[in-house]
Amino acid sequence: MAEFFLPLQTRKTSNPEKNDKMPEKKNVLPQLHLELIPMRLVIHNMLTCNVKTCQTNNFPLKIVASAIDYVESEYNHEYIVNLLPKLEWNALVEAAKDVNANIPSTFPENPSEEFLRNLYKLLHNVHIIEGSLKCPNCHRQFPITRGIPNMLLNENEI
Ligand SMILES: [Zn+2]
Repeated sequence: MAEFFLPLQTRKTSNPEKNDKMPEKKNVLPQLHLELIPMRLVIHNMLTCNVKTCQTNNFPLKIVASAIDYVESEYNHEYIVNLLPKLEWNALVEAAKDVNANIPSTFPENPSEEFLRNLYKLLHNVHIIEGSLKCPNCHRQFPITRGIPNMLLNENEI
């Protein structure tokens, strides 16, 4: 039986995204740029080290988090179903460890709705607020400040 463990506590925070005036987000994938802030695991799953000389083993970036927030949001089944084929599961397993969550090492053949709901929480509701992303190859660290990862390179890295 696959286990899915989210030890993170729900914390009430003022979340500007929950503003009712915001248009409802549908078909999330084409709008992923809107999801960049704050730093979520769904974004982490797509980030590689972009230093020019760093071409192999540059994924997944290790999450070194000093502040993690958990912000409840309404489950979006379509979001998860659309995302599944694009998800790098092994990278997510590593990312989950980095944020003290635990997911099965392989994706279950017939995931239950509960599993998908937990997956949604992990991908979307966990926000890395402070810390850094570290390249497993060149060890370059990309800082995360107030939920925003800074992937900008120095001139000698381009
Ligand atoms: Zn690198």
